[in-house]
Amino acid sequence: REGLRLMALVLLVIFIGIWFLFLSVKREIELARIKSEFISNVSHEIRTPLALISMYIETLEMGRIKTIEKVNEYYRIIGKETQRLTGMVNKILNFSRLESGRQKFDFDTCNLNIITQKVLDTYQFHLKNKGFDVKYFPADRLKPIRCDREAIADALINLIDNAIKYSRDIKKIEITTGTRKNYTFVEVKDHGPGIPKKKQKLVFDKFYRITTGHLAHEVKGTGLGLAIVNEIVKAHKGKVTLTSKPGEGCTFRLYFPILFTDKDLSNNNI
Ligand code: ADP
Repeated sequence: REGLRLMALVLLVIFIGIWFLFLSVKREIELARIKSEFISNVSHEIRTPLALISMYIETLEMGRIKTIEKVNEYYRIIGKETQRLTGMVNKILNFSRLESGRQKFDFDTCNLNIITQKVLDTYQFHLKNKGFDVKYFPADRLKPIRCDREAIADALINLIDNAIKYSRDIKKIEITTGTRKNYTFVEVKDHGPGIPKKKQKLVFDKFYRITTGHLAHEVKGTGLGLAIVNEIVKAHKGKVTLTSKPGEGCTFRLYFPILFTDKDLSNNNI
């Protein structure tokens, strides 16, 4: 009896060991696949604008373009493609700095309403150009937080960029600020395709992308945007949530701990 029990126990331990080994090998294989997909993605995204830039420069150099309008159009395309390349390289460098802890944060007392308004002021033109209707609902009175303004603006821009990139027919974005418990939050809501429940955690992983498999409809990206948002929020001791129903859009919310004053603390206002 005892012998049998012992054997069952040993078998169970071996089985659990094998199971864990299987899980870790599976994870390693998945990581390797995601990494190689990232490299092929990025290479493709670098090659396409580079090819366009060199083609347009060559054509301009040959002097075959006669009208000034056409010349200007070519310069505009070269400028746009260069910007796209710079944006992508900056995203990769930004993520690498954040992940390795090399990013220096300039913490200050800030108000989320002001940061959000500034981002919208600078982005208004771009959003209108893309045909988006953006509504901003700032909370009446927001308590201050301790944050790096640039970093929070960067996180917000990543969320707005994604809302633009992934929305299809309904080009509407709502941005809201508010308070919940000891946190203030800013939320970006779109009416795009949404993200299925199973993938909602994964989208914050570095390099992770959801692809449709249809090359022609594929939205381009590095899979770093939400990982950057996550790192920035983590550095502020905040949290990020995603609520979404496929077909009905996404709502991303960034929470930051309220900076309570001594007066708040002594009045027991928390
Ligand atoms: P990228 O946009 O470069 O792929 P992200 O890390 O920003 O990288 O996003 C990861 C994935 O999450 C995207 O590939 C996309 O499938 C999904 N996603 C992000 N934002 C949205 C959104 N607003 N609506 C639908 N899907 C989204």
